[in-house]
Amino acid sequence: KKKIAVMTSGGDSPGMNSAVRAVVRAGIYYGCDVFAVYEGYEGLLKGGDLLKKMEWKDVRGWLSEGGTLIGTARCMEFRERWGRKQAAGNLISEGIDALVVCGGDGSLTGADLFRSEWPSLVEELVKDGKFTEKQVEPYRNLKIVGLVGSIDNDMSGTDSTIGAYSALERICEMVDYIDATAKSHSRAFVVEVMGRHCGWLALMAGIATGADYIFVPERAAPAGKWQEELKKVCQAHREKGRRNNTVIVAEGALDNNLKPITSEQVKDALVELGLDTKITTLGHVQRGGTAVAHDRWLATLQGVDAVKAVLEMTPETPSPLIGILENKIIRMPLMESVKLTKSVAEAIENKDFDKAISLRDTEFIE
Ligand code: ATP
Repeated sequence: KKKIAVMTSGGDSPGMNSAVRAVVRAGIYYGCDVFAVYEGYEGLLKGGDLLKKMEWKDVRGWLSEGGTLIGTARCMEFRERWGRKQAAGNLISEGIDALVVCGGDGSLTGADLFRSEWPSLVEELVKDGKFTEKQVEPYRNLKIVGLVGSIDNDMSGTDSTIGAYSALERICEMVDYIDATAKSHSRAFVVEVMGRHCGWLALMAGIATGADYIFVPERAAPAGKWQEELKKVCQAHREKGRRNNTVIVAEGALDNNLKPITSEQVKDALVELGLDTKITTLGHVQRGGTAVAHDRWLATLQGVDAVKAVLEMTPETPSPLIGILENKIIRMPLMESVKLTKSVAEAIENKDFDKAISLRDTEFIE
């Protein structure tokens, strides 16, 4: 019987539970044993109780649960070869040679590295006397399939990541609350949202709430000049009768000299305009709460496809990452997609903002 493990890793995102539920149930449906790895890569290293066989009923009710019920962690030891060797030993002991990882680019990079090293890790485990050649024979290759769990929607090649629409929904709800009080007092609010290298949340929230101005990393505002531009726009909106102003700032917002644009700086500019201005940093409420319908179905369809991908994979197949393009679930090459995602940050560092945007929009399927 084929044995598949599923885990969540890196920052949590709403919808991760739906993904785990889908992998568990699709796995069982296709006749596999499915294990949940608790606490991210730490669970692979420690094994034991952190590697738990899951039954159909174990994931009942998980669609509507926020966060990740199997836990997630940052695990330094998995960055070391000895750590990955220990993880390989634990998987072989359970007879598992397929892993579905739901996480961000760091977790997926770790997973692909684990797969590429796997045959040599297995050899070493035999040399160390942990297993015999016969015992490891069925487990010579590891299968890795990636699911992107991230609220930032920062992965190249896919239209949305699991959790992004839930975080967006939460932000919009909070901005609506803020707008109500802002209008009452005729105030301006600077709302800081998550997104270190990716302005998707800020941009979409700005459009969806009708913000006056948006600062994102990919469209760097002109250094020394953005303050005047911002004031002009907010002033014009006031003159048209608006009783409040909302400015959304992504946490990674930059000017075109690559200097961070902070919420304090934005507030100072608005105060210069004579506006009573407050800052609200939304923080972790953006991650919390239940997943919206979009993330639930996305994670469910992708989780099912992850199981299918495991069952169809050969040792030669590059590790796939399950994405979505124009409403169709797709498989893209995991490492190429992760590399492109990393090169977006590099393009921003090189002040090539147009390239950053086109790299993120790269499509792997024609
Ligand atoms: P987020 O988008 O929320 O930051 P992430 O998956 O990118 O998610 P990371 O902290 O980068 O988060 O990675 C999560 C875990 O994945 C790390 O704690 C580590 O165990 C593993 N990992 C990350 N990068 C590597 C790597 N290059 N080699 C091996 N393991 C890695």
